[in-house]
Amino acid sequence: METTLSKLNIEKAKSSRINQVDFDNLTFGSVFTDHMMVCDYRDGAWETPSIMPYQGLTLEPSARVFHYGQAVFEGMKAYKDDDGKLWLFRPDENFRRINTSCARLAMPEFPEDYFFDSLRALLQLDKEWVKPGYGNSLYVRPFVIASQPSVMASPAEEYKFIIILSPAQSYYGGEVRVKIAEKYSRAADGGFGYAKAAGNYAGQFYPTQLAMQEGYQQVVWTDSNTHEYIEEAGTMNVFVRIGDTLLTGPTNDKILDGVTRKSVIELAKDQGISVEVRPIKVSELVEASKNNTLKEMFGSGTAAVINPILGFGYKGERYELPQLDNSYAGRFKKQLMDIQYNKSEDKFGWRYAVD
Ligand SMILES: *Cc1c(COP(=O)(O)O)cnc(C)c1O
Repeated sequence: METTLSKLNIEKAKSSRINQVDFDNLTFGSVFTDHMMVCDYRDGAWETPSIMPYQGLTLEPSARVFHYGQAVFEGMKAYKDDDGKLWLFRPDENFRRINTSCARLAMPEFPEDYFFDSLRALLQLDKEWVKPGYGNSLYVRPFVIASQPSVMASPAEEYKFIIILSPAQSYYGGEVRVKIAEKYSRAADGGFGYAKAAGNYAGQFYPTQLAMQEGYQQVVWTDSNTHEYIEEAGTMNVFVRIGDTLLTGPTNDKILDGVTRKSVIELAKDQGISVEVRPIKVSELVEASKNNTLKEMFGSGTAAVINPILGFGYKGERYELPQLDNSYAGRFKKQLMDIQYNKSEDKFGWRYAVD
């Protein structure tokens, strides 16, 4: 986009809250840094972005986001290496994706230089909040909301693009057993499952609660027409290893194009692992589990990087996966983290230096 960001309003916090934070006991996404970025869209244009002390927003109750869910977001992380240098992982992908999400929800796209210049300035201001050490990171949450006060059911003419930052520790997804969806869906053909839209998440909570009551931690979503094909695992992309072949579904209008997913595919191919990107039938999983060729299932996403799945439930039956010493899940998690923390060569050019 052809805009040049000539200025950025910066108001620094009078004092830092960093000493009040127990960095050894962080609950994911509950503590935020000293600053945030807010940029308003009015009269057909994005105004000058402002970096300001982290604070509440004032919105009228009629702001459209509250009524029609016109809201999208992103999730990425900043990492500190052993020399104190800050890095992001493929942020160009997140930037591209938030605009893809905006377009699907009839929201205006955000200019690239506004995004990167304000994000860099924000991260530099709150750099102390990124703790060194493998597993520590700063979760970056950009989001866009329709702020126009009016309950008319049409796209708003005013928006806010906001970035907030939350310190995170190594996120251990825990022991995950999943229920394969037989009734509910998270996305439909022609819908907006591929967008990181707030409403996609709200719609998942209830079916996930039901699965939890049955002793599962997550739902593996299946296609809304037949429930015969797996799509995603909770809010992560899903991979399956049958024999030594790695499988994942193709991205389409129902599957989110995850940065971790595409990185795993590239790593696997680069290492000569056979990768098949094609629709995966639930019946294949059941069959492979029965003949002991189903070796792994795992989710991929920014928060946990790779989250191994230990078993799944389908049509009243429970299936357990073997515990491997040399899993693909463990291998890809280490390789991705080594790149993210600047501990290994970056042959794909995925690291982005913040400072
Ligand atoms: C964010 C998200 C993912 C993971 O994407 P990453 O870019 O790897 O973090 C997968 N599925 C859904 C539904 C998501 O919202």
